[in-house]
Amino acid sequence: MDFDLFVIGGGSAGVRCARIAAGHGARVGIAEDRFWGGTCVNIGCVPKKLLVQAGEYGAWAEDAAGFGWSIRKGPHDWHALLAAKDREIGRLTGIYRKLLDGAGATIFDARARLEGPHTLDVGGKRVTAERIVIATGGHPTRLDIPGADLGIVSDDAFFLPKLPKRVAILGSGYIAVEFAGIFAALGAEVDLVYRQPLPLRGFDHDLREALAEALGANGIALHPGCLPERIEAHGARRRLTLVGGHAIDADLVFFATGRRAATANLGLEEAGVATNPSGAVIVDEHLRTSRPHIFAMGDVTDRLNLTPVATAEGHALADSLFGGHPRRISLDNVPTAVFSSPPIATVGLAEEQAAARGPVDVYVSRFTPMRHTISGRARKSLMKLVVDQASQRVLGAHMLGEDAPEILQGLAIAIVMGATKADFDRTIGIHPTAAEEFVTLRTRTRVSGAAKAAE
Ligand code: NDP
Repeated sequence: MDFDLFVIGGGSAGVRCARIAAGHGARVGIAEDRFWGGTCVNIGCVPKKLLVQAGEYGAWAEDAAGFGWSIRKGPHDWHALLAAKDREIGRLTGIYRKLLDGAGATIFDARARLEGPHTLDVGGKRVTAERIVIATGGHPTRLDIPGADLGIVSDDAFFLPKLPKRVAILGSGYIAVEFAGIFAALGAEVDLVYRQPLPLRGFDHDLREALAEALGANGIALHPGCLPERIEAHGARRRLTLVGGHAIDADLVFFATGRRAATANLGLEEAGVATNPSGAVIVDEHLRTSRPHIFAMGDVTDRLNLTPVATAEGHALADSLFGGHPRRISLDNVPTAVFSSPPIATVGLAEEQAAARGPVDVYVSRFTPMRHTISGRARKSLMKLVVDQASQRVLGAHMLGEDAPEILQGLAIAIVMGATKADFDRTIGIHPTAAEEFVTLRTRTRVSGAAKAAE
């Protein structure tokens, strides 16, 4: 065999796995045909966060007046922002490649395809490997409606030639909510069209309600319970017609309606690797596919599509196979954030999920953060704890508010360790912060779940 391990895909999962495996002494090859660092670094988390931060400066400039500053907010320069973003992304992708090189992996800037259980075609070259990792990620999808090609997806959003004046965004998941905030903060009119009554299905209900309120306060027009019917071009403009006939005229229609595993033309059938009906590679808890020497990780497996999960999986697999340290990653209590304005962060169970398992004590606090008592911005925070009534373990912590992702990262450690409400209560707060609210929530808001009668 040419390699002990061949990794297909140079994104978060693949790069980490290849780098650590090579560090353990394995002969590693890795192929990437688009960009090193994958979705997260190039057209996902990293540039997205830079765009979110660009929007925040505008809000801060406005809010400064309440604190005595007179800052005149000029027009925003979209080109300058994208150029700065591209410079930073170029630097990061370079680092990814260098790390692999430094670890001793053999790098192929090429597309790889399985030709058999141990054989690959890598940019026209035949390569053999003892073990293979599929880490090809996913790609955004459009809905199957007439004129869908007239809309863009998140891949395109990072390279728009100019900031659109009006954007209609379809969907209300992570990407829809984040980009609605970005475009609105940079000065565009935004319509958010989604089929649920509230955005972010699957998140805690109180958070979803607070988010809908925050989106409205940011001037985003919400269209809940709506489905798109078709898109038509009127010159450079787009008309999005919704089922029922309502039409939205915009410069841009943006599909943020989910992602699909990138498994087409990978040769999975030839290698005997099974996929589910949506095309994602099926893996067991050790990331093994239906062929025990072929592994898959990250978004291509479509379980928890988050970068830190992918990197953790890549690291764990490399340690397991070549480091003499077999381990697997738990997908319980994975914290996550949506970089809306203000952001959302959450760890553990939503109230509805927890209550389905048994009675829970629920603590909710809704308040105007100190900054906005003076800035005058209509922006409220929400903090919430969901506590198992019997054991008093904190099952879920949820926040919408400035710095929520920074705050929840720390709380996630406590929750992963099994902290109880009493542990939270005996922790002294840091004053004055918003975060201290999590350790001073004393009055139960309600009891939820099966044994409500217990109250
Ligand atoms: P999501 O799965 O989060 O959301 C998809 C959205 O599209 C939902 O609102 C969904 O509605 C809607 N939708 C799907 N199919 C249809 C349909 N046929 N008709 C109408 N609406 C439809 O996908 P995203 O594209 O936003 O993001 C993909 C994943 O990437 C996320 O789930 C997350 O794992 C990851 N991600 C993480 C980020 C982070 O960590 N901050 C940022 C961005 C992405 P419904 O709810 O009704 O199904």
